[in-house]
Amino acid sequence: MSNAKKYQPTAREQAFLATVESPRYDRDNINGLRLFFEGRAPDHVRGFYTEAEIGALRELKGTERDVEARMPVKMTKHYFELARQSAPLRTLVKANPAETLNLHGAEDPGYQMDYSPVEGLLHKYEMGLMYVVSTCSAHCRFCYREELISRKEIERQDGTVAKKGLAQIGEVTDYIRSHNQRVADNGGRHPESGREKLREILLSGGDPMVMPNRKLAEWLGALAESGVESIRIGTKEMAFFPDRFDDAFLSMLDRFHESYPDVGLRMMLHFNHPDEFLAKDDEGNYIEETSGVLRWHPKTQRAMEGVVSRGWICVENQSPIIKNINDDSDALRIMQRALKRVGAENHYFFCGRDIVAHKAFNVPIETAWKILNESQKGLSGVETHARLSITHYKGKTEVSAVTNEPMAGIAGGENGIIIFKILRNAASAPDRGKVCIAGRNPEAIWFDGYADRILFDEAGLFDYDRVAAPVAAEQVS
Ligand code: SF4
Repeated sequence: MSNAKKYQPTAREQAFLATVESPRYDRDNINGLRLFFEGRAPDHVRGFYTEAEIGALRELKGTERDVEARMPVKMTKHYFELARQSAPLRTLVKANPAETLNLHGAEDPGYQMDYSPVEGLLHKYEMGLMYVVSTCSAHCRFCYREELISRKEIERQDGTVAKKGLAQIGEVTDYIRSHNQRVADNGGRHPESGREKLREILLSGGDPMVMPNRKLAEWLGALAESGVESIRIGTKEMAFFPDRFDDAFLSMLDRFHESYPDVGLRMMLHFNHPDEFLAKDDEGNYIEETSGVLRWHPKTQRAMEGVVSRGWICVENQSPIIKNINDDSDALRIMQRALKRVGAENHYFFCGRDIVAHKAFNVPIETAWKILNESQKGLSGVETHARLSITHYKGKTEVSAVTNEPMAGIAGGENGIIIFKILRNAASAPDRGKVCIAGRNPEAIWFDGYADRILFDEAGLFDYDRVAAPVAAEQVS
């Protein structure tokens, strides 16, 4: 039971919150496999699984290989309609017995809990990531937060075992204020951790867009009052349920911007494949306009225009590269070009993380690099801003280059090399830009695949000590 004190909004927050309209949304969700097992699935999704597929999944129910115990099954009607014409989208939401063939992987990928000073907040240098909700409109089978969404018990560094909790406004804003006050009092760096101001917060989960506008607005107002400079909303809702980006939501953002004009807002979208936003004809082909551009799905187009047209919102897309979903350079080329054309930035593509069962989803690191590199051939400079990132325990690390040719004269480089570069170290900013060079291993799907062939490692990727877990929340005195 939480003993957090009740958060008291300021007069400015209350004035903003009084303007918020909070409609209910009907996403027509399909939750779980039970209706399929019992032959009671609604007409519109009947046939999404074949009899054989349902039989195989039913056999695993209640066993160690139960796919729903690993990751709950969930889908919106909108996504189902798109998936009818797209094999990659079906793979993204359909449970598959192959998911649980090999359950090897980390319970807490990236040792996230090492960065959690208060429940639901991960403090990574200048940025805080918050778990504000533990579900999404639909569930991606490859989800990196499967431990949160399936409410698994996670062991922390101090040996305690508990489900990951959700962030509470009072606790989190107390922590931000306290951290930033100590940083200010100490000339710009925290006296113990050496970290700078906590100035950017990512609302994540789960998907914050499943929360009502009122709750989202409470978070936005409270974070703005606590002194953060930018707020990100991490969401896949534009793919799963674009009608959520309606006038009531956009108007809430407008009122927020009027109330807090200095606070930047970043919409971090999650499109994995162009089939999630481009329209198709009856044969399943993209529709080319007379101008030559590809037509968007009208609902998604409306949603995207809604956020992009507000010039003060940064719109960024990021996506992992996942086996049988988007390990396809042609699809990624179309996606990068189409997003940039309408004003959305291509931010990161990610190599798969070492989540439980990652072998079912991840493509080898060098394959992901080649797919992304191939996809960017022929794109313009502004269309190719995205980098390939792999999330090391130290922080975001770019897969900068993979050579085609052997490195003559360098022992270990006979098959070529791969270069990693630290983009963001979650604990210490000065490590940015440091590199690690290893001999190639085309089979490697995680860092351990390079452990026996390191050529140079100023980044310290293979000589890593976990950061000390925070022992207690900092409190405002
Ligand atoms: S939208 Fe994100 S958090 Fe939600 S299921 Fe997909 S990957 Fe996981």
